[in-house]
Amino acid sequence: MWDLVIVGGGVCGLALGYGASRRGQRVLVLDDRDALARPSRGNFGLIWVQGKGVGFSDYARITQASARLWPGFADELQQLTGVDLEYRPSGGLDFCLSPQEVLEREAGLEALHADTGLQTRMLNATELACFLPGVGHVPGASWCDMDAHVNPLMLLLALAQGIERRGGSVRRDEAVQQAEAGSDGVHLLLDGGKEIHGRHLLLCTGLGGEALRDSLGVTLPVRGVKGQILVTARQPPLLPFATAHLRQTADGTVMCGDSWEEGDTGNQTQTLVLGKIARTATRLLPALGQARMLRAWAATRVITPDGAPLYQPSARYSNVHAVACHSGVTLAAWHALELAGLLAQHSGAPLLSMTTERFDVETNPNHRHRIGSH
Ligand SMILES: Cc1cc2nc3c(=O)[nH]c(=O)nc-3n(C[C@H](O)[C@H](O)[C@H](O)COP(=O)(O)OP(=O)(O)OC[C@H]3O[C@@H](n4cnc5c(N)ncnc54)[C@H](O)[C@@H]3O)c2cc1C
Repeated sequence: MWDLVIVGGGVCGLALGYGASRRGQRVLVLDDRDALARPSRGNFGLIWVQGKGVGFSDYARITQASARLWPGFADELQQLTGVDLEYRPSGGLDFCLSPQEVLEREAGLEALHADTGLQTRMLNATELACFLPGVGHVPGASWCDMDAHVNPLMLLLALAQGIERRGGSVRRDEAVQQAEAGSDGVHLLLDGGKEIHGRHLLLCTGLGGEALRDSLGVTLPVRGVKGQILVTARQPPLLPFATAHLRQTADGTVMCGDSWEEGDTGNQTQTLVLGKIARTATRLLPALGQARMLRAWAATRVITPDGAPLYQPSARYSNVHAVACHSGVTLAAWHALELAGLLAQHSGAPLLSMTTERFDVETNPNHRHRIGSH
């Protein structure tokens, strides 16, 4: 019998699985067939702190905690698996594309600073030009030392290998059809009729798994928001740090993209959206006007009503939890090193503010939180 069975082998399921296995739990991760639209494969790779958690101090706190844990986490995974995560604690810039955006950003960051003490500073156009030679005509940007970036595919690989090195198992192409829970543990039925038994169950199924959650008494309101990414051929070093719009990877390609497409899901790219991404990219860094575009893809974000994560216990079974999370890359270190332990210790909610209770207008009339797109 497994101590913990996780349904969903995206970055959230694997980070929590790695965290549990490094605490000595026997972990099994079951993941359905891969699909291109999965956010864990198609994301931007930012570990992004600035702007996260205005008016929601617990979200700001875990995001900042994760960024602090990331260096040790990356080091540990690399030592254990030999996989280079291409983790770069570079700091990050978020460009403002209009004077109005400069004003809004200043106000938002002041509020976040007052709430959480996060140090973020605004740069005007002249300061920005000194900071980033080659930048285009941009009225300003915000800078945060805590922002960083990583290769998301290497992260998935290292987490899966890390679980296996610690005695667990990650099985691909295993769709879970049904699940039951009770005081004797959890029982899962896989596509093909195979059965799995475990003590605890964690549902990290992203936008999928609704039928499983319903049958186990877990409510998780999530919606899909598409994002598209355009990648250039390798460039000489242009960007020494992460930005919310552009990221130069370890092999020199530049990822461009910040689209936020409500009501759309799937992996279809659209020329109109990619054209807009390319125009913004060349406005920010005119040198990219000469770059050849290599590929483009679309992926769908997992978004909760206020954009912050949900760590939700089942209303019926003390051994069942579910996770829904945008910013799964940013939070991967905290999920592995902290949340996995909290979930093991608590039969209810590991963090009360991170459940659907916060959407209850009677107990929480003023909930409104700002999220960043990463
Ligand atoms: C364009 C884009 C850019 C982004 N950029 C960033 C960024 O820069 N930084 C950041 O922190 N975050 C970013 N994100 C968000 C981040 O990628 C997500 O938060 C994260 O990938 C969510 O991971 P997950 O494991 O919850 O979900 P998923 O990746 O969707 O994984 C869920 C898994 O569950 C499996 N599954 C579902 N149902 C079943 C079943 N019945 N049986 C078995 N398996 C099942 C699926 O096959 C899937 O593999 C971005 C997302 C997008 C789309």
